[in-house]
Amino acid sequence: MYCKGRAWIELNMDHLKHNIQEFRRLLPWDCALMPAVKANAYGHGAVLVAKALQEQGIRAFCVASASEGVMLRRAGISGELLVLGYTHPEEFDDLIAYDLIQTVIDGNYAAQMERDGRRFTVHVGIDTGMHRIGERWENIEQIVKIFRIKNLDVTGVYSHLCVSDGQSQREQSYTLEQIQHFEQVIAELQRRGITDFKCHLQGSYGILNYSQYCFDYARAGIAFYGIYSGKNDSTKAALDLKPVLSLKSRVTSVKNLYQGEGAGYGLTYRTEEDRKIAVLSIGYADGVPRSLSNCGYILCNGKMAPIAGRVCMDQMMVDVTEIPRVKPGDEAVLIGRSGALEIRAEDMAQWAGTISNEIVSRLGERLERIAV
Ligand SMILES: *Cc1c(COP(=O)(O)O)cnc(C)c1O
Repeated sequence: MYCKGRAWIELNMDHLKHNIQEFRRLLPWDCALMPAVKANAYGHGAVLVAKALQEQGIRAFCVASASEGVMLRRAGISGELLVLGYTHPEEFDDLIAYDLIQTVIDGNYAAQMERDGRRFTVHVGIDTGMHRIGERWENIEQIVKIFRIKNLDVTGVYSHLCVSDGQSQREQSYTLEQIQHFEQVIAELQRRGITDFKCHLQGSYGILNYSQYCFDYARAGIAFYGIYSGKNDSTKAALDLKPVLSLKSRVTSVKNLYQGEGAGYGLTYRTEEDRKIAVLSIGYADGVPRSLSNCGYILCNGKMAPIAGRVCMDQMMVDVTEIPRVKPGDEAVLIGRSGALEIRAEDMAQWAGTISNEIVSRLGERLERIAV
């Protein structure tokens, strides 16, 4: 099959390597990168990305589920694979068979793993204020109890910051409180003679805004792929990060619409004068948000073309009246560069009213991923 036939993703592996170097430059020498390759490596392609990272000496990865871990192991990824989310007891087999580290969600979950009785390697989640996953930081006795469970090999504790991207006074002091709570848990464990474990706290924005607080691992996600969550985000550490992913499709046909005609489902696009429309072979099933209907842009032959009408499941239309010589087979760039122009994932996210994390992590299975 020809990979660039219909719609595809190009991965710039030089940019990925560059981003690794940028993060390594910022992090202390004894803080290891543990990149998040969950959600198919934020849509980039988990196997391609994890293999490239492994070649660059990265030895630890975060995934969201046991099945994501299994997929990477089957593809030959070695090193530590930490499952950040919930694993059903019926899937505990996989944790053992594929040597995955499971997050202990809380005391209750630890008890479930204890009842199972088999030997598991785990990191204990600590809730320092996000109130998502983790045993509450105040429950130190409960946390100690988890460490003492016979069949659990606790090799780490971690927490997660929930407002580390924010620059307001309130967000900064909340983050510092979370960091304090985490450090307090570590100190309490050490006071009780429990010292042989790794600690980690920061995702992308935690690293970029609080780099002076690094622990044993840094769980870089979105920024690692050279993308910020929001278009206007700024961070204390100004790393030179380069986007790894481009999203491209083909012009399948070009047609002239006469004044007063409509296009697409619901005929929501209407011409006020004669216009030229190009049809693209990509749609919302590939991850192009339907909310971009009549509001986003793509690039074609180095020029911007507005999206015309509703984005369909597998196709969409754009207005190319202002772009000369567009023809079937031309490349359409939805994310990436064309000539002197660039559309970033952050731009698409802004037009769609979301964050770039959601845009890239929802890029479809159907898209071929190609390393360039
Ligand atoms: C997804 C995730 C990360 C990575 O987050 P980014 O903001 O994308 O860097 C880190 N830690 C946890 C617990 C996560 O769920």
